[in-house]
Amino acid sequence: MSQLTVGKDVLSYCTKCKLNLGHTIVAMKDSKHIAKVKCNTCNTMQAYKDPSVSSKQNKTRTRKTASAPSKAISVSDLWMEKMSSTKKKSTPYAIDGKFHQGDIIDHLKFGPGIVEKVVDDKIEVIFRHEIKTLVHNKP
Ligand SMILES: [Zn+2]
Repeated sequence: MSQLTVGKDVLSYCTKCKLNLGHTIVAMKDSKHIAKVKCNTCNTMQAYKDPSVSSKQNKTRTRKTASAPSKAISVSDLWMEKMSSTKKKSTPYAIDGKFHQGDIIDHLKFGPGIVEKVVDDKIEVIFRHEIKTLVHNKP
């Protein structure tokens, strides 16, 4: 299990983007509780919001055990879940490529990742160890 520390990426609900997005931890309450995070997409600093509390309520129950509901979802857990739930083939990442939500990309440095969100010429990609915002669709 990965340790939560300042500078790490976590999934949190962004009050500005109104989405569960990758955030960077900027302050910890204690070793297990995140105090403040910064949205990787809009750079807004805000209190950490556990995404498993605010959403997923009306979805069919996952087969995960119902223990520790307040535990933060680590990026690698999320990555694993996304990668195992898609049958898409990966495309090599290129700055002039055009990607869509749900696409699997292969990044030279970060490895395989899944496109979580597309905002104009930027894509937010979940990689094994971190969530990155990359540029795409550049001529
Ligand atoms: Zn945001």
